[in-house]
Amino acid sequence: MSVIRALHRQLVNQERSATEITQAYLDRITQVEPQLHSYLTITAAQAQAQAQHIDEKIAAGEEIGLLAGIPLGIKDNLCTQGVRTTCASQILANFIPPYESTVTAKLSQAGAIMLGKTNLDEFAMGSSTENSAFQLTANPWDLTCVPGGSSGGSAAAVAGQECVAALGSDTGGSIRQPASFCGVVGLKPTYGLVSRFGLVAYASSLDQVGPLTSTVEDAAILLSAIAGYDPQDATSLQVEIPDYTTFLTKPGRKKPLQGVKIGLISETMGEGMQPEVAQALEVAMTTLKSLGATVKDISCPRFAYGLPTYYIIAPSEASANLARYDGVNFGYRADAESLVEMYTKTRATGFGSEVKRRIMIGTYALSAGYYDAYYLKAQKVRTLIKADFSQAFESVDLLISPTAPTTAFKAGEKTADPLSMYLSDLMTIPVNLAGLPGLSLPCGFDQQGRPIGLQLIGNVLREDQIFKVASAYEQATDWHTKQPQL
Ligand code: GLN
Repeated sequence: MSVIRALHRQLVNQERSATEITQAYLDRITQVEPQLHSYLTITAAQAQAQAQHIDEKIAAGEEIGLLAGIPLGIKDNLCTQGVRTTCASQILANFIPPYESTVTAKLSQAGAIMLGKTNLDEFAMGSSTENSAFQLTANPWDLTCVPGGSSGGSAAAVAGQECVAALGSDTGGSIRQPASFCGVVGLKPTYGLVSRFGLVAYASSLDQVGPLTSTVEDAAILLSAIAGYDPQDATSLQVEIPDYTTFLTKPGRKKPLQGVKIGLISETMGEGMQPEVAQALEVAMTTLKSLGATVKDISCPRFAYGLPTYYIIAPSEASANLARYDGVNFGYRADAESLVEMYTKTRATGFGSEVKRRIMIGTYALSAGYYDAYYLKAQKVRTLIKADFSQAFESVDLLISPTAPTTAFKAGEKTADPLSMYLSDLMTIPVNLAGLPGLSLPCGFDQQGRPIGLQLIGNVLREDQIFKVASAYEQATDWHTKQPQL
């Protein structure tokens, strides 16, 4: 059952006010934040003012939309006017944006309430949220483990019930992988479906904003609210936005997936995978078949090249996007004797080590003499990866894979070895390279009780297929009803 819909009903029937609901979530934050550290900024006063406004509307007999009075967490790389937006970086520690991102503006127009800004890996670079310059976020299922990343704060906040739902951003897996690690639903929409205006850029040809929620229906509700053409984003798609909840499978039907053809990407089931993840996938396939779908193995031969390709393209774009942080226009400025010294000191002390590593890799890959060997080559491989997907979608409607090769790992386990950290996005990265929509939803637990995620990948703009299959699967299983003990 959709949490958003349940709260909406309570509001409309005047069983609970928006002020009460908001206060309940703020109290929950006070209670569990000392363990989770999901939020970088909590906007309690602003949230209560927004809630009061919704209550006045209800009292005046006005009709309210589904998201009115619903408390949300917002990843701290989305600009919020007048509210500090840090990207979990020292270089933006005191940055207060003079403008609002399109997605957060849309949500507040819909009456949604922002509880605060959630933690992330610095500039969304990472897979564990350990690259935050400010704090470590814990996994609600096991406080000694990471929540995944880079949207780890958003995923932990949803799993820990510190908000109804949250927004994250996904450049190579940053919504889906933390969703998988925290046992929630995470959707990366088709590239261009959701505006990037006001999302602090990491790798512009890959970045996409999307929801983290506790049910598939909540994800459909949020996507319907944030999707849509935006003239302020040059890559925004001019397409009609449907009500995504109309694609959800209606409960009670016997074989709701009759006629749906699903392909399991064979390259994702190889070695290096935690055995429990492979087992959970097998069981999920059986469930999908019992719902009427046909499931077959399908090869995307160049899938494995996604990771090396991404680690050329993403740092290249990042090196250009991050050139703007020079101590002049934004945030932090180091004391120095000369202009050049000011630039270098600001960047040397303002950026963390992973961000600097990526800037150096990207600058190298784009430099004259290496451009053809690295950047251009990577772009060609990107085209081939896309072609593999296109070919696969000629014979199936939807692709599936594990969301990540393992469940959540211990904090500190991979921080010394960037390459092993990069591997946790093996399954999600090719989806960004091809611009496709992908959703992760809970499909089991390992022996330590840590959640496992199932990834559904759709063709371009086929979020409808994802919602249909994900909702049918969710109805047939009870993973989403389990909650961590905090
Ligand atoms: N973990 C990947 C990276 O570090 C993906 C991050 C993301 O999707 N923002 O780049």
